[in-house]
Amino acid sequence: MEQTVYPHVEIDLGKLEHNLSALCERCRAAGVSVAGVVKGFNALPELLQLYDAAPVESIASSRLDQLRRAAGAGVKKPLMYIRVPMLSEAEEAARWADVSLHSDLAVLRALNRAAGALGKRHRVILMLDLGDLREGFWGTQELVAAALEVERALPHLELYGVGTNLGCYGSVRATPEKMEQLIAAAGAAEAAIGRRLEVLSGGSSNNAYMVMDGTQPRRINHLRLGEILMMGKFWGCDLSGWMHTDVFTLRAEVIEARTKPSHPVGELTVDCFGRRQTYQDRGPRRRALLAVGRADFGSPCDLLPRDRGVEVLGASSDHTILDVEDAGRPIRTGDVLEFDLTYAGVLFLTGSPSVKRYCR
Ligand SMILES: *Cc1c(COP(=O)(O)O)cnc(C)c1O
Repeated sequence: MEQTVYPHVEIDLGKLEHNLSALCERCRAAGVSVAGVVKGFNALPELLQLYDAAPVESIASSRLDQLRRAAGAGVKKPLMYIRVPMLSEAEEAARWADVSLHSDLAVLRALNRAAGALGKRHRVILMLDLGDLREGFWGTQELVAAALEVERALPHLELYGVGTNLGCYGSVRATPEKMEQLIAAAGAAEAAIGRRLEVLSGGSSNNAYMVMDGTQPRRINHLRLGEILMMGKFWGCDLSGWMHTDVFTLRAEVIEARTKPSHPVGELTVDCFGRRQTYQDRGPRRRALLAVGRADFGSPCDLLPRDRGVEVLGASSDHTILDVEDAGRPIRTGDVLEFDLTYAGVLFLTGSPSVKRYCR
């Protein structure tokens, strides 16, 4: 058998599949179809297959290269590009995505030309910024003007619907009131173009709590879900008992374990990232070094030790420093420690070329 390589992220496909089925079923019962967002795990091929077979309506990413890989891997579901395309990639967007989100008429016009040249009809969802201050037309008037132009003057685009995104930059909560604003704007666009819009894409994992407690207005019939499917939990949304929160496991190997002082010895300046740090003096403590670092996971606070009594003290680009004085077992060089991960931890680690991936 091949030797296990560290560090690695292990992905429990059975648990992920359960999360997808369970949550999509809840959404379906609420009249909501789901785009499965795969950017959070860098669209790993084995997981793409799983999403393609799951009850999600489409596969979505904010990275066009991931959609290109999905198409190349033979994914059958429609591919949705959920970052507004760059003007310079309109042709690639038309080629690899079936649906995309928009907030700029220049991009829509370029996409229309590109889709025409490819002999394709590309579906577009116009985004309305409801105050989170990331992508979106500002105000109903701007949205309606764009809808009219797409409908009347851009024949290679199909005006598929309208959508919004909340929470990602401005931390604005997705609420029934915000959804009503989207529905009202959709109504204005429908009045202008003289037909009903197919899709009202209400948001992301931020919206899931409204599906659970039945407060999401019925006209919202589409969500783009990433984090909540992967992590089995989401801030402010009670899913306790029926989702798996341990789909992803990081395993890393100890390369040094010994007792040292807990406060650095000498004149303190800045750490390897140029930051001034503070250190608590707890006297001599047993510490362990892991062969994995911030180049792999971003921030050490995204690593959550599964061993009780193990504490993450910090990390440099290639090392993670742990306090293991109170660990339930003696930690030695060569030991392997397990960690739960945050969404950010999974995002970084699955993208690191130095971290192996195992699916089981
Ligand atoms: C990332 C993203 C999502 C998914 O967000 P989650 O919080 O992971 O569910 C939805 N919509 C857009 C536009 C995104 O960029």
